[in-house]
Amino acid sequence: MAGNGDDTINVVNSLFLMLTPIASFVGLWWHATTFGVTWVEPFLFVIWYFACGLSITVGYHRLFSHRSHEASWPLRLFYALFGAGAFENSALNWCADHRLHHRHTDKPEDPYSASRGFWWSHILWVMIDEGGERIHDLDQVKDLQEDPILRFQHKYYLLLCVGVGMFLPALIGGLISGVPGAVGGFVWAGLARTVFTHHGTFLINSAAHIWGTQPYGESNSSKDSPMLAFLTFGEGYHNFHHTFQADYRNGHRWYHFDPSKWWIKAFALVGLKRGLKSTPDWHIEDKRRQASFETAASKASPDGTEDLTRLQERMKAARSNFKAQSRALDKLLAERRAARKERQAARRQELEEAITKLRDDIATIRAEFAQIMNDLTAFKPTAA
Ligand SMILES: [Zn+2]
Ligand SMILES: [Zn+2]
Repeated sequence: MAGNGDDTINVVNSLFLMLTPIASFVGLWWHATTFGVTWVEPFLFVIWYFACGLSITVGYHRLFSHRSHEASWPLRLFYALFGAGAFENSALNWCADHRLHHRHTDKPEDPYSASRGFWWSHILWVMIDEGGERIHDLDQVKDLQEDPILRFQHKYYLLLCVGVGMFLPALIGGLISGVPGAVGGFVWAGLARTVFTHHGTFLINSAAHIWGTQPYGESNSSKDSPMLAFLTFGEGYHNFHHTFQADYRNGHRWYHFDPSKWWIKAFALVGLKRGLKSTPDWHIEDKRRQASFETAASKASPDGTEDLTRLQERMKAARSNFKAQSRALDKLLAERRAARKERQAARRQELEEAITKLRDDIATIRAEFAQIMNDLTAFKPTAA
């Protein structure tokens, strides 16, 4: 947020962000030519890349910032330790910035507003202190301050980031193969991995607000980009995420590449996570239909004509009908599950019939949606 004083360069952040890529490059070359690369270095790189990356996407982001589920303390501790090792600030500071990003997306209060261009949202916002100071609004994370693990991490952040992010991989490399492993662990899993982790996160703030599709609406700049999901443990479905931010998934379909979602689900299956929040499919479908209607309507001209108003009213009616029937269907399906459990055959039969009827009704509403879209595209299309 813009303050009163002049903007200044944050020397520590800037040097760190500029020197880590250079040090990685020189370090990788020097280590390879001096000691040679064995299995140890790539192995440590991958372990640290996943541990630190998932601690950001699952821990800092989906768990702490958005409370999309609950996690047991060993997992929260893991996220606090390896999240620190990502060198992206303490969880409290990170989440404070991120909650502002969601609350004020693209506005001046958004710390990494993409409306200020690729470079600002990618990296400059970390390097420049607006108004001469860096403010993390900790009022945004009062709930998180109640977690002793996060308070501990915040207090000892500097020690933890250097310890877990740089020293620990060097120590383990050293234990496996002596000096070459120690240097390799430091250069590969410490330095180079930090650069990759950084830019993965940064791409979500920059690229995922610039390139991609907007199936769920254009009210902010967030985009869905399956390609970006590959580089960011599934965080590329960013338009979905901005629309349904409490959802523990970012790629909501089973085939969407979202390792963070799979990680959360896997730990839920063994009882270490619970309370996973997910948006009902019909709610997602409703949002998508509304978004494509609005996009098509904005291309139809002129605005406010009788025909367009009539179509908007039809759309409104179909949507509220669809939502009401979908909610009713959810209720019946839950009742059927209960009836199955209690082996009430007659009640089950009754429910089965009601469910079939409701599904038919919903199919009719879907046909009406399709008809509305047809009428809308047929209606006075502009050259654009
Ligand atoms: Zn978010
Ligand atoms: Zn965003």
